Amino acid sequence: MLDCGTVSDSTKNFYDLAAALIAEHWQLHGHLERLPGENLNFRLETPEADRFVLKITIDREAAVPLEEAVLARLLADGVPVPETIPTVEGEPLVETDLFGSPGIARIQRFLPGQQWRSVGSNRARLTAIGAMVAEIHRALHRFEVEHPDSHRTHTWDLSLVDRYHSTISLFPELHQRDQLERCLHQYRAIALPKLEDCPQGVLHGDPNDENFLLEGDAVMGVVDVGDCQHGALIQDLAISVAYALQAEGATLEDAAILVAGYDQVRALTEVEEEVLYSLAMARLACSALVGILRREEDAQHETWFSHESTTLQAIAANVEIPPNEARNRLFALCRKARDNPPSVEDLRASRTRLLGPSLSVSYQTPLHIVEGVGPYLFDGEGRPFLDLVNNVCHVGHCHPRVVEAIAQQAATLNTNTRYLHEKVTQLAERLVATLPESLDTCFFVNSGSEANELALRLARSATGASDVLVVDGAYHGSTGNAVAMSPYKFNGPGGQGAPDWVHVVPVPDRYRGEFRGTSREVGESYARQVGEVLHRSSQSNRAVAGLFVEPILSCGGQIPLPDGYLASAFEQVREAGGVAVADEVQVGFGRVGREFWGFELYQVVPDIVVMGKPIGNGHPLGAVVTTRAIAEAFDNGMEYFSTFGGNPVSCACGLAVLDVIENEGLQQRAEDLGELFLRRLRDLMAEHSLIGDVRGIGLFLGIEFVRDRDTLEPAATEASLIVDQLRDRGILLSIDGPLHNVIKIKPPMVIDEGDIEMTIGQLDSVLQSID
Ligand code: PMP
Repeated sequence: MLDCGTVSDSTKNFYDLAAALIAEHWQLHGHLERLPGENLNFRLETPEADRFVLKITIDREAAVPLEEAVLARLLADGVPVPETIPTVEGEPLVETDLFGSPGIARIQRFLPGQQWRSVGSNRARLTAIGAMVAEIHRALHRFEVEHPDSHRTHTWDLSLVDRYHSTISLFPELHQRDQLERCLHQYRAIALPKLEDCPQGVLHGDPNDENFLLEGDAVMGVVDVGDCQHGALIQDLAISVAYALQAEGATLEDAAILVAGYDQVRALTEVEEEVLYSLAMARLACSALVGILRREEDAQHETWFSHESTTLQAIAANVEIPPNEARNRLFALCRKARDNPPSVEDLRASRTRLLGPSLSVSYQTPLHIVEGVGPYLFDGEGRPFLDLVNNVCHVGHCHPRVVEAIAQQAATLNTNTRYLHEKVTQLAERLVATLPESLDTCFFVNSGSEANELALRLARSATGASDVLVVDGAYHGSTGNAVAMSPYKFNGPGGQGAPDWVHVVPVPDRYRGEFRGTSREVGESYARQVGEVLHRSSQSNRAVAGLFVEPILSCGGQIPLPDGYLASAFEQVREAGGVAVADEVQVGFGRVGREFWGFELYQVVPDIVVMGKPIGNGHPLGAVVTTRAIAEAFDNGMEYFSTFGGNPVSCACGLAVLDVIENEGLQQRAEDLGELFLRRLRDLMAEHSLIGDVRGIGLFLGIEFVRDRDTLEPAATEASLIVDQLRDRGILLSIDGPLHNVIKIKPPMVIDEGDIEMTIGQLDSVLQSID
């Protein structure tokens, strides 16, 4: 990049240098006038009234020979770019020394016309500019084959805007930060994942409103290919759209004219349609972000900030437009209208009419989600939502590997476990291989609830006892016995309390429970309470078949178990004749990062492991894995059969999920990202007293909100306000815990650092607004 301090201090010297250069190498002389821009460009008018531009490039990112090759190709193809005038030695370029910095000098013929920016837009000009961008792409078709050096990147590379994310914090105004966050959020969710699927080629790189020269309504010149590079062609159009939107009073309808102009020359593809709006918004954001960064270098630079206010205005004017609406408006002129999705109101009404009223729907204004990709969900209007709560879609929504496995098997065969099939045994083998040796026998079912029902039957038949211990606040499922084992339900609205065969042990909550802190005694004290419950049940002659426990309590409030607790609880239950059941429905399959299974965090081995949710990535699959002895005790003559449990399609799905976890290193990712997330949440906790506690392991985290850090008064209303506001900002979270004041974070394991930073930024912003 230009060392502008040197340039502005020594302008006079540069005039002398320029005059000497043109005299020596081109035998030219005349009047020189510095042109605005990042490099040292001068207009030269000779006494014969010939006009040229002397360009002295000092940009460290520049690749002048590449640029010259692009210009030559464009010129040969009739695109009105400036012609380079060779030196008297016949060279196109001259290397020069700019008082210690290397530079490259060349002379181009001056092009007539006025900048698009100064003449303004009208229908004919916008059409011509759009068409010219497409002409450039046409002319540069396959250029990269001869010039592999076009695979490069630079400051303005629209595929790398995300690297400026942290710069958002430099903006003083909250609303500006929020708008920029939204631009980058949509860019990350909508444009980035699809850029590679867009047609690729060599780009102009910066078709902005200063680089088109017009006479009347015709484009007479295209200048400055200094940012040329290989990439998705749509990036160029997005840049031009971003500038069309900066004209005073411009709307998407104006930009649509430019888009249609392009489309007439090169028809845009459907993916390009999908990404254009969010890419254009990303370019606006990029301009704002690079601009503020440059202020740190030179707050007075004469050209760097030329578009500063129009950029922010264009962002403000367009950022709230739902992406699908923006897309429709941008493409209204060059394609037929698409079908509109059903309205949220209609869907809600038919659901109320047709489905059971005890079903709930999230948020005051429900979401109509129509598509999922990776960690993102999209509503009917194309708005992206970062899904931070769906640990079911463990390896990402609609993971192509999983979708393919399901589709292929569904197209081949789907039956049940009464026939031999390799997929069911393969899945059993793969699951068993992740578990301690004693857990070697599998049953397949369709849900976590069904798995817990079966675990209960297994425990009962293995022990001959009927009662169970569960942890307060726990949820183990929606079926009869599973609800009976769920204090979350039987002590909640409509619940009828614990049945006589269910004994509840207190939540071992180190933050607000009876025993607090991180010492080992805390775990031991809570474990003693398990002993007391066991003692009471044995005194009332109720033999215990088992303890059902989640390795990190989920509905109970995202609570990791204190040290020593689980080992002691398991030991005491076994001494009382019961078995230990780990409900891994929420936390299993690598989510806790350090280990594959939640129970492994505590160096214990359960007798029965219950699996659900992530095992099928959204496909209805569950499993119970136990010891051979327990499975044999259950085999009393009565056949066990679950029609769908272990069907080949579900098993193909389960196998694909395990493959993806392994191939994509998702367990390690959960560990790394979990640490980052926790650290960043703790940073926020230092800023906002409403956050009382931040906890969790891997990608299973909780934020507990309190009004007072001493009394721990729960901030339930605030927590739900935060969730609602984040939903409006495109982030999905939900609340749990007996006091409804814990936000749980358990995203698909394919989120990345950028998603975390965005969440932290938005959460910070929401907290600032309610602090
Ligand atoms: N166990 C736990 C810990 C759960 O969180 C759930 C579901 N939330 C279940 C069991 C029941 O699973 P499903 O909804 O698949 O029946």
